[in-house]
Amino acid sequence: LVSRKKHPDNTVVDVKGEHIGDGQQRLIAGPCSVESEEQVFTVAEALKNRGVNLLRGGAYKPRSSPYDFQGLGVEGLKILKKAGERFDMAVISEIVTPGDVEAADEYLDVIQIGARNMQNFELLKEVGATDKPVLLKRGLSATLSEFMNAAEYVMSRGNTNLMLCERGIRTYETATRNTLDISAVPILKQETHLPVLADVTHSTGRRDLLLPAAKAALAIGADAVMSEVHPDPAVALSDSAQQMDIEQFDNFINTLRAENLLKDGV
Ligand code: PEP
Ligand code: MN
Repeated sequence: LVSRKKHPDNTVVDVKGEHIGDGQQRLIAGPCSVESEEQVFTVAEALKNRGVNLLRGGAYKPRSSPYDFQGLGVEGLKILKKAGERFDMAVISEIVTPGDVEAADEYLDVIQIGARNMQNFELLKEVGATDKPVLLKRGLSATLSEFMNAAEYVMSRGNTNLMLCERGIRTYETATRNTLDISAVPILKQETHLPVLADVTHSTGRRDLLLPAAKAALAIGADAVMSEVHPDPAVALSDSAQQMDIEQFDNFINTLRAENLLKDGV
């Protein structure tokens, strides 16, 4: 069902009026973790003022260590919903178990399935049984074939509102947190009809690489680029090293626009 052979036309996913996959290129931004209403509203307002309509934020955080901040859970989803209503933005957040699907359906515009859950097949089946847009991330060590099979799990349950996101893979290279597999973008565009996104924050893990990685992703045809923005990354409860503050995001988006890389979009 994900194959372009069976479905030659691009799938366009309608996320609260943003038609992802329509040829325009967009930015998805927001904090790594939802920490408070004030934090989310500050970022949301700044993004909206810069023309960004897609707000991300993590409420259930799959952290490598059990002692790290685990997220606000459903309270975080409620903060996102409020921000989406207040600033007229679509909100995107990750869930980690099938039991969260009902709440996610109520509070979110897009359900994200994170890299660590790309092969959580029960979760894939459960989100596949809704009609909510799904943003599926590539697993840390998943081949593209495994990634497309995970997407097939969602589509085989009836949900066609699916987007794929390259977010870097585990390699022997230690200079970046993961290795952004940039060629995954055109390969997935060729082999599937789904919108393809690139997450420059979790792939590089480095603030200084966000802009060059975003340029590469947009130039190679990504439908959207995801990056993390926090009012004060130094005190962020997660991913402090790679989130941009609002001024840095300003430079990020202005540079992409000045170089005409955000094709027709924001
Ligand atoms: C995220 O986007 O918040 C996240 C945890 O990303 P990934 O699943 O790609 O690590
Ligand atoms: Mn993060």
